[in-house]
Amino acid sequence: MLAEQFDAFLLDLDGVVYIGAELLPGAAEALGRLREAGKAIRFLTNDPRPTRSELAERLAGLGVEARADEVITCGWATAEFLRREGVRSVFVVGSAGLRAELEQAGIAVVDRERPEAVVVGADEHLGYLDILRASRLIHQGARFVAVNVDGAFPVPGGLAPATGAVVSAVQAATGRRPIVVGKPSLPMFELALASLPGRQRVVMVGDTPESDVLGAHQAGIPAILVAEEPPRYPTAGDFRNPDACIRTLLDLFEPGRSIRQWTRPSHPWPERVAPGVAAVVLDGDGRVLLVKRADNGRWGLPMGQVERGETVAEAVARELREEVGLEVRVLRLVGVYSEPASQVFVYPSGEAVQFVTCCLLCEISGGALRADDAEILDAAFFPPDALPDDLLSMHPRWLADALAGQTAAFVR
Ligand SMILES: [Mg+2]
Repeated sequence: MLAEQFDAFLLDLDGVVYIGAELLPGAAEALGRLREAGKAIRFLTNDPRPTRSELAERLAGLGVEARADEVITCGWATAEFLRREGVRSVFVVGSAGLRAELEQAGIAVVDRERPEAVVVGADEHLGYLDILRASRLIHQGARFVAVNVDGAFPVPGGLAPATGAVVSAVQAATGRRPIVVGKPSLPMFELALASLPGRQRVVMVGDTPESDVLGAHQAGIPAILVAEEPPRYPTAGDFRNPDACIRTLLDLFEPGRSIRQWTRPSHPWPERVAPGVAAVVLDGDGRVLLVKRADNGRWGLPMGQVERGETVAEAVARELREEVGLEVRVLRLVGVYSEPASQVFVYPSGEAVQFVTCCLLCEISGGALRADDAEILDAAFFPPDALPDDLLSMHPRWLADALAGQTAAFVR
């Protein structure tokens, strides 16, 4: 049975233990049995409104034993995250409970002064003026922190707008992207895992693939989905695919059930897939052009994104003109590369993008090599058998593919 396979259970609340004020069938019994078996329990909720203590009391009122330090709310996690980041003052779009958690962490909640960060949560009393104030402060330089980006949460009879709806309003007004603390982001899972003794077999149990399952998988732990049927994503490698599916928490004790092993891939889960280009440009001596990029400090082939309305040939020519001052002509396609292990990039904003990169062999048709673009630290031609050690991992293969199909006509 699933319960025997783990020492510690991270349990989502809404949709797993209760919905609104109603305990879900079998939840109290299942939680009691987990405790009897000596399992560690943490409740992980993206509800930013109550404090940990209030939630522990709510659970007790429903007949579920819970200590406040077993409850990990995204509000408390945000307060802990900001305290560790050294943030001392915040403006809060959210509930009294969220404010209380921040104040308990020693962070001043300010209304009139300029804060270091704006924390966006949600409650039923928010209005346009809260979004206006948050947006102005972010424009003035405050960090934009979201307790989570959930779109909706279950209530009896349907779904209600959740924090993500409020975050989206601030995001639309500012054009900025928030730092997200709650599920599926790592900080919340890291705090939960840090609260458990080491070497425990930990599993996440939740009802939302995009939040509970994705978050667990990003944190490197398996995930059990509470649902009538497993979700269907297009690919088996999708991080949102659960490792097991149950209908109620009591199914954790059903004999014969087991769980798929989750092996954490080396790449983060991308939010989107984008077209990219890379160039193999050879000089008259058969040396290859490499650039040292400012964002990662490593040498690599010139690369860039395809912009809207542009062909890959136009994109590669534009990138080389902008970055190193060379005019190039495309000779042929080397290959199309998309493997996530090397093609998922995380931008400084935190956004992870998987590139499908067309690598093109190019010849120089004009211009002169320079390296004064802000994104480029250096640019130089290297003999293919004497490349720099810190070359981006996939580029030796792309270069080998380019040279394998090389004819003398291309090396002038
Ligand atoms: Mg849930």
